[in-house]
Amino acid sequence: RQRNGHEPEFLQAVQEVAETVIPYIVKHDIYHGKNILLRMVEPERLISFRVNWVDDDGEIQVNRGYRVQMNSAIGPYKGGLRFHPTVNASILKFLAFEQVFKNSLTTLPMGGGKGGSDFDPKGKSDNEIMRFCHAFMSELFRHIGPNTDVPAGDIGVGGREIGFMFGMYKKLRNEFTGVLTGKGATWGGSLIRPEATGYGNVYFADSMLKTKGDSFEGKIVTVSGSGNVAQYACEKATELGAKVVTLSDSSGYIYDEDGIDAEKLAFVMELKNVKRGRIHEYVEKYPSAKFFKGERPWGVKCDVALPCATQNELNGEEAQTLVDNGCVCVSEGANMPSTPEAIAVFHKEKVLFAPGKASNAGGVATSGLEMSQNSLRLSWSREEVDERLKDIMENIHKACVEYGTDESGYVDYVKGANIAGFVKVADAMLAQGVV
Ligand code: NDP
Repeated sequence: RQRNGHEPEFLQAVQEVAETVIPYIVKHDIYHGKNILLRMVEPERLISFRVNWVDDDGEIQVNRGYRVQMNSAIGPYKGGLRFHPTVNASILKFLAFEQVFKNSLTTLPMGGGKGGSDFDPKGKSDNEIMRFCHAFMSELFRHIGPNTDVPAGDIGVGGREIGFMFGMYKKLRNEFTGVLTGKGATWGGSLIRPEATGYGNVYFADSMLKTKGDSFEGKIVTVSGSGNVAQYACEKATELGAKVVTLSDSSGYIYDEDGIDAEKLAFVMELKNVKRGRIHEYVEKYPSAKFFKGERPWGVKCDVALPCATQNELNGEEAQTLVDNGCVCVSEGANMPSTPEAIAVFHKEKVLFAPGKASNAGGVATSGLEMSQNSLRLSWSREEVDERLKDIMENIHKACVEYGTDESGYVDYVKGANIAGFVKVADAMLAQGVV
C-alpha cells in the first residue's frame, strides 16, 4: 500500500485478491512465510516509452506507451493493449495483475501482462490510427516476441489496430511469427477469437444458471458497452433464447423492450465497427427504442446482467437496484466493472456473481489457442475452436466451484477464481526459486 498508494485501481484489484487468498496462504504451510503475494504484486518489469506521431494536419503529437510484464512463472507474458485517454500505470497494473490469475485459470501456459497508451482513437482517421500504431510498435517490438510476450487487443484496439501493429513488427523483425493475437483469419488469426470473450462470458453465466437448474431461455438480459465483448455477449445470449434489452457506450444507454435481435445487432456492429458511430444512433434506426443520455443500464428490470464496458461501471447502489428488480445472475464481461460495494451486495443477496477474471477468460483462452495454431502452422475450424472454448469455460467454472463453495453451498466465485488462479502460479514460482 505504501509503495502503490497513488494507484487506486491497482490497490482495488490487489485488495480483492488479498482478502480471499491470504486466509488460504495462512492455512497452507507450503505458501506461508514465503512472501509469495508480495512478490506477485510487483511487476517483473514496467516499460514506459514515448510515442511520437504526425497527425493529418502535419502536427507532431506525443503520447505515452506502456507494457507491464507482470508475471512469467507459467508462460510468456500475455495480455491486451488498451488505447484510451484514461490509460495510466495504475489501470494497466490492475489489468496485468488480474490477467495473471485469469491466464492461470484457463489452464493454458500463459503468464500475465498488459499495455497500451493514453492515445484516444475517437475521431481519428484511418491514416492517423495507422501512423500511431506504427509509431507505438516501433518501440514496443524490442520488448515482445512469440516466446517472450504476446500482446492482444482490448478497449480501443481491435482487428484494425492489431493489423497495423503486426505489419510494423514483421517489418522490423523480418519474420512472420505469432507475436500478437487477434490477427485476421487470413494471416494467422484464429476463428472465434473476435467472438470469444462475449461468447465465453455467456457460456460461464449459463454454467452458473445450470447450478440452479436454470438457463438463458426466456431471460431478460441487460448488457453494458457496445464494443467487441458486448456485441458477442448479446449475440450468444440471444442465440440461447434470451432477450437482450440494453447496450451502451460512454454517452449513455439504449433500451429496446422488444429485444436486440440478430438484425438489430448487425446494425450495431456496422455502426460501431465500421462507421465508428455512437449508440444513440440506434434509436434513429429503431424509433421504438429509447436513449438515456449519460446513464447506465442498471436501473432496467432484468434477470441477468452482463457488464461489458469498463472498470467500476456498476456501483453498490446500482447493484442493490438490480437485485431489487429480480436480477439473479451477474457475469462480468469487462475487467472489474463492479465496485467492491457492488460485489458485497451480490454476495449478501446470494446472487450468482462471476468476476471478470473467470467469466471473461474466454478471450485470452482463445488467444492461447491462436498461439498454439501459429506454432503448429495450422488453423482449426470454427466448431473445433468453439468446442475448446466451451470446455475451457466449463473447467474454469468447475475450478471456481471447487475452491469457492462455502458450508451453505453458496459459491463465492470471486474466492474460487482467486484461489484457483493463485495456486498454479504460486507453485511455479516456488519451484523456480527466488528469481
Ligand atoms: P471496445 O473498445 O470494443 O468497447 C468498449 C466499450 O465500452 C465501448 O462501448 C465503450 O464506449 C465503452 N466504454 C469504454 N470506456 C467507457 C467508460 N469510461 N464509460 C462508459 N463506457 C465506456 O472494448 P472491448 O469490448 O474489447 O472491452 C470491454 C471490456 O472487456 C474492457 O474492460 C476490457 O478490458 C474487457 N475485456 C476485453 C477482452 C477482449 O477480448 N476484447 C478480453 C477480456 C476482457 P465508447 O465507444 O463511448 O468509449
